[in-house]
Formats: sequence, C-alpha cells, structure tokens
Amino acid sequence: MTTNGNPIIVNGRSYSPPTRPTVVICLDGSEPGYIEKAIDAGVAPTFARFMKEGAHVHAASVIPSFTNPNNLSIITGRPPAVHGIAGNYFYDTTSGTEVMMNDPKFLRAPTILAGVHDAGYRVAAVTAKDKLRALLAHGLDYSTGRAFAFSAERADQATIAANGIDDVLDFVGLPLPEVYSADLSRFVFAAGVKLVERHRPDLMYLSTTDYIQHKVGLGTKIANDFYAMIDGYLAQLDALGCTIVATADHGMNDKYLADGKPDVIYLQDVMDDWTGKGAARVILPITDPYVAHHGSLGSFATIYTPEGADIDTLLMRLRDINGIDVALTRKDACARFELPPDRIGDIVVISSKHKVLGTSAARHDLSGLTEPLRSHGGLTEERVPLIANRKIALPPDHRLRNFDAFDVALNRIQ
Ligand code: ZN
Ligand code: ZN
Repeated sequence: MTTNGNPIIVNGRSYSPPTRPTVVICLDGSEPGYIEKAIDAGVAPTFARFMKEGAHVHAASVIPSFTNPNNLSIITGRPPAVHGIAGNYFYDTTSGTEVMMNDPKFLRAPTILAGVHDAGYRVAAVTAKDKLRALLAHGLDYSTGRAFAFSAERADQATIAANGIDDVLDFVGLPLPEVYSADLSRFVFAAGVKLVERHRPDLMYLSTTDYIQHKVGLGTKIANDFYAMIDGYLAQLDALGCTIVATADHGMNDKYLADGKPDVIYLQDVMDDWTGKGAARVILPITDPYVAHHGSLGSFATIYTPEGADIDTLLMRLRDINGIDVALTRKDACARFELPPDRIGDIVVISSKHKVLGTSAARHDLSGLTEPLRSHGGLTEERVPLIANRKIALPPDHRLRNFDAFDVALNRIQ
C-alpha cells in the first residue's frame, strides 16, 4: 500500500503522517520528580539533554488517574467519554455483575495507531502487561506485515498471526521477564529499540508498568536505577533518529499511616452502615488480576446506590469524611472528568493525597504489600511530565493533556 501523505483523521483529530520513526512512550506512574532526581544523581544524562534541548512540560492525566483509562486516552487522543474505558471494572446493573473492561469489545473508539496503520504506515506497540496490549493494539491488521504488537509479559507466546512477529525472546535478546519486576519495563524498551533497528516503524507506542513507582519514591536508589535504565534506551532511540515524546498515565503518592499500614477509607463498610448491608455497591476501578503491588487500593471509587437513595444527603455525608476530597453525582463527575455515564456509578468519590478507598476491610488481601502502600487514582496524581527530544510548539493557553502525546509527536515538533 502506498501512502498519500495526507493528514490522518482519528476521532475527529488530525495527525500529520510521520516523516521519521516517531515513538510515544507512557512511563507508567512517573510522578513529576522521579526523572529530575535521577538527573540530579547523574544517572539520566539523556533525559537531561532532552529537557534542555527538546521539551519538558507538565500535562494533566485523565481522572480516574489509573493505567487503562489513561493509556486508552493516549492511544485514541480522547477522554474516556469517547473511548469508554473508565477503569478496569464497572457494574452492570442489568445483570447485577461486576464486569471487567479489559476486553477490546468495551472500546468505543479506534486508536491513532490503527488509523496511521490503515493509512499505509508501519506501526508497533509494546506493552509491559498483556491486558493492555489487547486494548492498545485493537484494530491492527497483522496480515499487512506493517503491524507489530506484543507484551513483555507474554513475549514467549507471540505469533505472526496474532502479533505480527514471533520468536520475540530471540528477537529482543532477553529472557521472559517476571510480571512483578523492573525487567518487565526493560523488556519493553529493549524491544522498542530492536523494532526500530529491524523494522523501522513509522509510529510506535511503548507502555511500561508502575511496579517500581508503587514500590519506591522519588530519588531512591531503586527508582534512580530504573530511570537510568530507561535513559540508556532513550539514548539509543534518539541515536536511531526517532522523534520521542514521553509522558505518563498518572503520578504516584504515599498512601500510608505513620505505622506503615495503608491509610484506607473502607467505603463499602461506610455505605453498609448508612444504607443497609449490601444495599449500595462500591466499585474500585483499580481492581485487576495484578493486585500484589496495590492491594486494589486507589484514590477513586464509584458507588451504585440503592433504589430511592437520597443522593444529595449521601454526598454531604461523604464530603464530611476526613480524607474525601471530592464526592459528585454521576452527572457532575462525567461532565467534569469526561467519563462515560453508563460505566460510572451514581456517585464518584475521590480521596486526598495520602488516602485510598477500599470496599470492606475484610475483602482486601494486603498480604502482597511488602512495602508501605503507594498508589494513585485521584486528582493528586493528575499531573504528569511530558518530555520530547525535540522542541515543541504548543498553542497559547493550551491545557495540555497526556492524551495530546500523539498530537505533540506528529503535529507540534519544531
Ligand atoms: Zn499506571
Ligand atoms: Zn498502578
């Protein structure tokens, strides 16, 4: 297929066709400061150079500041109201079941990657976890030989038919990483470099995991080592002539008490107390099969209230709880955060910087939390960095979002 060089329209936004390999990166959980601390420690010279010679600004993430809503916003260029992925779970009131939104059938918008691929370009996506790969790579046609998408987690299972590439472990030259490890993200970058060297994709998306950021804070040896590792791969991508734009899905904060225990508001217990046991249903959209690093505790929850509940009174009582920053009706929350109303409960609750929201104390298995809890989900994890290896020109007064990353990479590089 030949390309015609015309702008590519995806979800109503226009993207200039890539003229050199263009790499958009989601550094999962990169709270502002991690990179600066690594630079201060002298282990991130490439980041330092990008910030000086290219661009370094802050952008606002999607709320809930969770991984999937933000990755899907970045890859579609639109908020969850458009793409439909508002978390890992929603509650289906008709069937009375909690439904996992990891399946592409829940995705309501095409991806920029698929749009660029359909216009005749070569595209690639590499994710840490496989759950995201299925969503981010939705709509790619591997039979063209111009699409490559796989996860570090299941790199050993990649096939030409399902991923556009096989023998990925050999290709990357690394062993299959553990799912809870810094190596999972290392694999993503190593694969990205190899893809550019061998297949020269016009557009590539790399998405890491926040295992390290859940574990340790800014400036720690472990965090600095992690960003130093990334720095080395960025240097390689830069040397290969890529345009690079890196942002994050959300920040990360300490969410624990002086004794090291998580600082949790157990909302289901609160609601049981107020509306009767099990009458309301609290959904934590952070819940996923990989809970060891956060125990399903984040700063955003949605509540389905029982028939006839006095929502205004419930909102007032919720706002009175120490550590609850925001309690809104579905309508107000969807308007403010651009969320899909059919996948949000009657009430949205957001906790403060150092608190998280749980269901019932008895339902959270915190045995996997080997470190004091760090997590995200709220407004206090909304601010993220956006870094490019070339200068960028933004419109004046533009409220930059992390999901402008492809717009920046394809339209705003000077
Ligand atoms: Zn994340
Ligand atoms: Zn996380």
